[in-house]
Amino acid sequence: MWPVPVPPAAQPRRTAQREPAAAGGAVAARVSVDQDSSAEPLRNTDCSGGHSPRQRPAASRRPPAIPLTFEKDTALNLAEQLAADMSEVDDVAFLTGERALYNKAEYAGRKAVVCSPRRAAAVLVLVFLAVLAIALVAAFARPACLPSTGVVGPTTVAPPVATRPTTADGEPFPWDSLRLPPAVLPRRYELLLQPNLTTFAVVGRVKIQITVTQETSFIVLHSRNMTITKRELHTSDDSVNVSITRLLLYPERDQVYLSVNESLQLGQNYTLSFEFNYTLREALEGFYLSHYTAANGSKRYLATTQFEPNAARAAFPCFDEPQLKATFQLAMVRHESHTALFNTPRRSTADLDFYLGAGIKQDDFFETVRMSTYLVAFIVSDYAHISDTTDGNVLVSVWAPPHLVQQGQFAAQVAVSVLDFYTDYFGLPYQLPKLDLVAIPDFAAGAMENWGLCTFRLTSLLYEPSSGGSAIQQWVTRVVAHELAHQWFGNLVTMEWWNDLWLNEGFATLMEFIGAGHARPEYHMGQQFMLEATLTALALDSLRDSHPISVEVTDPDQIESIFDTISYSKGAAVLYMLMKELGQPVFKAGLNKYLRRHSLGSARTADLWAAVQEAAAEAETPPAGDGPPDVQAMMDSWTRQKSYPLISVVLSAGRLTVRQAPFTQLPAVGARQSDAPLWHVPLSCRLHRRAGLLAVRLNGTASVTVSAPRQSAWYYCNVNKTGVYRVTYPADNWAALQQLLLAGSSHLSVQDRAAIIDDAFSLNRADLLNASVPLRLSTSLSREAGLAPWAVSRRHLDWWLQLLYDQPTHAPLQHFVRRLIAPQYGQLGWSEQGSHVVRRLRALVLAWAVSVRLPEAVARARTLFSDWRNAGLPVPPDLRQLVYSTGVEYGDTGDWQFVWQRYLNATTPTEKNSLLRALGASTDPLILEHFLRISLAGELVRSQDFVLVVESTAANQAARLRLWRFVRLNWHKILDKFGGGTFMIDNIIQELVSRFSTQLELEEVRAFFDGKDLRSASRSLRQALESIQLNIRWRGSHQAAAAAWLEDWSRREAAGAAPPTARHWPN
Ligand SMILES: [Zn+2]
Repeated sequence: MWPVPVPPAAQPRRTAQREPAAAGGAVAARVSVDQDSSAEPLRNTDCSGGHSPRQRPAASRRPPAIPLTFEKDTALNLAEQLAADMSEVDDVAFLTGERALYNKAEYAGRKAVVCSPRRAAAVLVLVFLAVLAIALVAAFARPACLPSTGVVGPTTVAPPVATRPTTADGEPFPWDSLRLPPAVLPRRYELLLQPNLTTFAVVGRVKIQITVTQETSFIVLHSRNMTITKRELHTSDDSVNVSITRLLLYPERDQVYLSVNESLQLGQNYTLSFEFNYTLREALEGFYLSHYTAANGSKRYLATTQFEPNAARAAFPCFDEPQLKATFQLAMVRHESHTALFNTPRRSTADLDFYLGAGIKQDDFFETVRMSTYLVAFIVSDYAHISDTTDGNVLVSVWAPPHLVQQGQFAAQVAVSVLDFYTDYFGLPYQLPKLDLVAIPDFAAGAMENWGLCTFRLTSLLYEPSSGGSAIQQWVTRVVAHELAHQWFGNLVTMEWWNDLWLNEGFATLMEFIGAGHARPEYHMGQQFMLEATLTALALDSLRDSHPISVEVTDPDQIESIFDTISYSKGAAVLYMLMKELGQPVFKAGLNKYLRRHSLGSARTADLWAAVQEAAAEAETPPAGDGPPDVQAMMDSWTRQKSYPLISVVLSAGRLTVRQAPFTQLPAVGARQSDAPLWHVPLSCRLHRRAGLLAVRLNGTASVTVSAPRQSAWYYCNVNKTGVYRVTYPADNWAALQQLLLAGSSHLSVQDRAAIIDDAFSLNRADLLNASVPLRLSTSLSREAGLAPWAVSRRHLDWWLQLLYDQPTHAPLQHFVRRLIAPQYGQLGWSEQGSHVVRRLRALVLAWAVSVRLPEAVARARTLFSDWRNAGLPVPPDLRQLVYSTGVEYGDTGDWQFVWQRYLNATTPTEKNSLLRALGASTDPLILEHFLRISLAGELVRSQDFVLVVESTAANQAARLRLWRFVRLNWHKILDKFGGGTFMIDNIIQELVSRFSTQLELEEVRAFFDGKDLRSASRSLRQALESIQLNIRWRGSHQAAAAAWLEDWSRREAAGAAPPTARHWPN
């Protein structure tokens, strides 16, 4: 899954990037299913009629039901009996209920099918029987609620004794574990579904072939928010029917408990069948409803899925754990105007119009390979597609609303290129004959790797060169490369349980850069990996309230909360560190062993280390250092402990001494030196007057000393920032590195230059380095042309600007930044030209220039806005976000209204995003209040896009306090809408709360959230509170030093003695 729900702004934000210390990818989405329980008088055996915790009131956005064109009676049994008599309809007989009807008017423009006399006669008989049945029902009707308990037969394996879990009506639920019992394993699912895109009703049946591995008298599996109308259990050869004596539900864990009247025999195969129904909602998980507006303005619905981590159970009853792999066969009933997609290709289509109404078809799909439930996917839509074929003859198709499908060309090209590349890289072919990439209008996360049927947000898949800039193009490339990596790593070999999720996601994150780098070498993904993965992880993981990569998962909310920056970015960074330590050929050989060994099965993290260790031992050329490292020991030290080390390096008298200690920005509470964690640290150093790199390893020891040249004027460690730690030096070496940086020395790569600046700012924030050091290092920007040093400097200096917004130091710091920017600003200009990296750098520098109010930059951006508004001149794609935002920030109500109208009318997804972000740049309090209100209402702004609104208003100094007030006033509405544990709540906290910097605000935040249940977002709150404390400390401890340095710099500059360049700069 791609966790970050929205692509970055084409240019970094106006005021500040996300706070460095709390930077984190949003936790993957999970919005609780909004099932309308009131629609069903009998929900399984629960007759209480109450809402379970997961059964929230119907969403306010529930689409209006379209009236049926003809009604069918409710005498289902009689109708079914008649249908069952017709042998050829046997398989779909149960579908002929009320929920199976279609509205022909929905498909206007299509010719009505004329009934044959035979069919008309059959319909008449049905109607007659129906009327008769209604009369009988009316005469003898009585409450139909069955008692929820039944007689339990003798048992062989006693259920675990537990009293705590209870069903919704208070009855004890006999199974007390998050995990399912191991006595029964699913082998094959046969699924039949009929979603109705007119009534939004879904009727389904699943037959699950199970194998008994331990004699038992009960079965536990998963089901959420559906009505089970029929359940059956019999031996696979149909010879014995096993009576299900009791069915209990435990909604807290979505578990269904079935007890049977005779024990299921070891080694015997059985078939467990359910018939069920539910209603499609715009729920963003499970089998859910989405919609788009067609080119002619009509509203079109589609039904799609998002199952990871645990929502397959909301689509059909199943054993919903990742290691319980099985094969899946799907039959999907649909209207002829729709297309059904599944993980595998369609095998055949049958005509069902005689039984289910005109134009109804049934698609049967090929059976899948063995796979996890969370990777199953199906979609019913009226989408169009474009296709291409890989060298390995895999059919790659991009599916989207017909008027947008051409915007899928770029993603299709990337997918074809990356799929061939991965086939070679992993040494194993892609397992399926086709791969569909589908753009979903309502999508909680960024994308999802369903095997053979990946789903994406529109903005993660569709790219239109005339409106999307270089950042959007790169975003699409990365997301596609990420999901395709999962086809091997995650899909072919799956983690046994969610505590190893980091391995899936860390690996896909690493591969997304390698894959995107292959597809588009001009992106220079090495720099970007450091920025997006390593530095992002280092920022978050230095908070006290971080967590180890590998965590035990004991409750469902925890599963959701681990889809975070630590799993993705730190996971990727530590894998990259291992790859660099072993060399890519050895790493690849290890991967290949791992994938082959566990193909179509499940594995644990230790299995990967074992395979990589074998590959390292077999390698002809040992990697640098003292032979291959102990892979398991090394990686355990990085994955089982939180945080990372600060490496102190001292060169003295020909001896290089390296020490490690945990790096946290606030001191760890009650930590003793002797208990300090230690890591296995691979370290590479470059020394003045020494050829090549010096490799040093700390194998879980606190320090090591090696010999080194005595005459080295400087030394630098963690070359190219391949290690996941920070490095510090004595003051004289910091000064020497500063000289090296300012002199533009070729000894430092672009990653090194960015890493030195990032380490200096971060050490300052941790109270370990004077503010003058990062400020001096920043002056190198005046001659810097690399993207990474610019991005890092902006991230930190913008944060300082934000902390100082109400302080006298703000103006001198802003002036300092303007002076740093000036040389590059002049050089880059406003016309879109140059390489991909130059274009990205231009977007960054121009946006920064506007945000620090460089007069000519502001004037130029405003001119481009008025040219666009008044003369219709299009803004160059890379500059759109900047120009739109500047126009709104400096404009009046008319300008805001103009952008709002453009937003409402925009059809290109990326353009729509840019316009929405720009709307949050207003400084007018009334407009901001109005904007927040209409955004939360969800009618004109999609609910999934509320995150963009939060992001842009939180970054807007003029809007931040208003947003905070708005969030507090509307907290219950926000919780109702987005659920207690979704990325949206995380995002509000990360984007808004962590920016505060006064004691008053800290107390206010604490008081507001006190006692509120934030579920999986509670860690984000603790991190945000820590971040506020850091902000307060920085203002108290380092503001004065920064002010003094800036004053001195300003005096020298005024005297013409200190332009912000190297040669004139004092040490
Ligand atoms: Zn992923």
